Amino acid sequence: MRRLIDSHVHMESFDDPGAVVQRSRDSGVDAVICVGGSLESSKVAKQLARKYPDYLYPALGVHPSEVLKEDIDATVAYLRENLDGCVAVGEIGLDYAYPFAKPKDVRARMREVFSRFLNVASEYDLPVSIHSRSAYRDSLELATGAGVEGVFHWYDGPINTLRGILDAGFYVSATPSVAYSKGAMAVMEETPIERVLVETDSPVYLRNLGRRSTPVDIKLVVDALAELKEMDPSEVSRVTTRNAEMLFRLP
Ligand SMILES: [Zn+2]
Repeated sequence: MRRLIDSHVHMESFDDPGAVVQRSRDSGVDAVICVGGSLESSKVAKQLARKYPDYLYPALGVHPSEVLKEDIDATVAYLRENLDGCVAVGEIGLDYAYPFAKPKDVRARMREVFSRFLNVASEYDLPVSIHSRSAYRDSLELATGAGVEGVFHWYDGPINTLRGILDAGFYVSATPSVAYSKGAMAVMEETPIERVLVETDSPVYLRNLGRRSTPVDIKLVVDALAELKEMDPSEVSRVTTRNAEMLFRLP
């Protein structure tokens, strides 16, 4: 039985992924979902997963920050040929907070690209890992329309949209921000533990600790959630691990 799963990591962003895998294993993290954020990083996610089988599980996708830089046709073609053995399509989504995303036509392009990846996920019957910053309603609408399962990763939007996300059957992930962000706490107070995944989004910078994260920091997320929900940390680990195993259909 797995003890902990980090459900969203950019493993290719580490200088020494092998060392990170070793430390994560040693600290009781029993699986890591390795998301791609571009064609190049999706390729690396897939390679790393081959190198660490039954530990790193790959997801392929293009992060909304990259949509104008990437050859989307080429990436979709790559996904179609390489989704076998992957557990999800992601990280994909919308982000209207970037300065470059102010113009309407850029936002429309983001939605078009997001829809294409959602359709691929639906066609291949895979869940999605969704980035939705400052585009919460549109992300929910497109994901619901595509009829996919998935997780709203690091959701920190309004509570009424969160209710729509939960009603539509999606999971929502908690990150180390649940220890310091009032918004993240409010989201997790509202989300039943049966619909929570835990993740570090590492190697993202942890501003409360002044350093970059690794999957080992998943413990911080579990402890903060346990405190918030007045649960035993072992119970938080057990339920969120089972949630991730179900969503990503881990063998
Ligand atoms: Zn991410």
